[in-house]
Amino acid sequence: MKILVMNSGSSSLKFQLFNKEGLTVVASGLIGAIGEPLGLVSIRYLDGKGHEQHIELKDRIVDHRDAIEIMMKLFQEKQILSDVTQLAGVGHRVVHGGEAFHEPTLVTNDVLTEIHKLTPLAPLHNPVNITGIEVVMEKVPCVPQVAVFDTAFHQSIPEHAYLYALPYSLYKEQRVRRYGFHGTSHAFVSKAAAEYLGKPYEDLKCITLHLGNGASAAAIDHGICVDTSMGFTPLEGLVMGTRCGDLDPAILFYLVREIGMDINEMDTLLNKKSGLKGICGNNDMRSISKLAEAGDRQALLAFHIFCYRIKKYIGSYLAVLGGADCLIFTGGIGENAVSVRATCLAGLENLGLTLDPQKNNNRSDAIMEIQSDSSPCKILVVPTNEELEIAHQTLALIG
Ligand code: ADP
Repeated sequence: MKILVMNSGSSSLKFQLFNKEGLTVVASGLIGAIGEPLGLVSIRYLDGKGHEQHIELKDRIVDHRDAIEIMMKLFQEKQILSDVTQLAGVGHRVVHGGEAFHEPTLVTNDVLTEIHKLTPLAPLHNPVNITGIEVVMEKVPCVPQVAVFDTAFHQSIPEHAYLYALPYSLYKEQRVRRYGFHGTSHAFVSKAAAEYLGKPYEDLKCITLHLGNGASAAAIDHGICVDTSMGFTPLEGLVMGTRCGDLDPAILFYLVREIGMDINEMDTLLNKKSGLKGICGNNDMRSISKLAEAGDRQALLAFHIFCYRIKKYIGSYLAVLGGADCLIFTGGIGENAVSVRATCLAGLENLGLTLDPQKNNNRSDAIMEIQSDSSPCKILVVPTNEELEIAHQTLALIG
């Protein structure tokens, strides 16, 4: 029997198929550029002899429904899942669970209705997550499905940290508050770190830094999330590939008054044209690091703005937690960008964080410790695996 995990973004579908027994990966893939003139389908799978195969196709992929049809057809053609009755369950990443969902939840019609109601809070994501659930319901109605919410891990954040200093009625009537995102990743890496350190999760005080195209930090106190940098939407907090992160909201009034910018232009500006891209025209940390090393001033500036914001969040979360047992780097940048880790930790020795430059240069697919022997706080690089975490949560609920 197999467990299928679907992780839909606004224009992509990531998927992994696991053996229910031991949760080993049978196939994984990405269908990207959905809705664009030329989409990409990439899938790796183990054939009948256990050899890894790779297929890459370019085709027009109309929408997420089409992407799921393509995935299912490939599963059948390549005999990865010749019969859908082999599916024991399907786990979905659902971006917004609002205040309704504190934990992974077995999908029922009522749950689906509730996820629909949360669409205004995540207009680009919840609809495509819903499509995934609905298509599976149509094709294999008796297979149990589990929704794993990006926001759920952060529902433990206390009121004083999730409320904005806005009129309280905006929270009561419109549910304007901090929700936080990337919860599955923050949960996965913090639990993996506790296991690695041999510490009960309930005793762990840590700061997690998920640094990918989207980036967020979380403060976890005795295994409970108490603050996170993303807010009402994923725009707040750290500097990201194309998102600005923290900003003085009055800048928006100024842009409206002085240059007549409208709401859609502001949305595009802050979400798509800002962050690393806004400063240096590039949102890929690999290229930015190379350009910065070669002396490109704008790339170097973008790099430093990115690292400085992370440093500020580390300091503020050390204050929130009253010190931490460990700091965790994850995500494409957190796991790979040696110079980002070094720059945002420089000068934090008196706060208990001392990096070992040699260990920081190491590379590994497993968890790595990169602090010096004298550092009271451990510094770990923990590869994230949201799909595996969703598979675990799905298995736990379907039994
Ligand atoms: P997403 O949020 O889309 O899942 P990822 O977690 O894959 O993104 O992170 C993508 C980011 O990681 C990109 O900025 C990419 O340049 C960066 N990255 C990946 N590998 C490296 C590397 N070896 N050095 C520096 N940055 C890297």
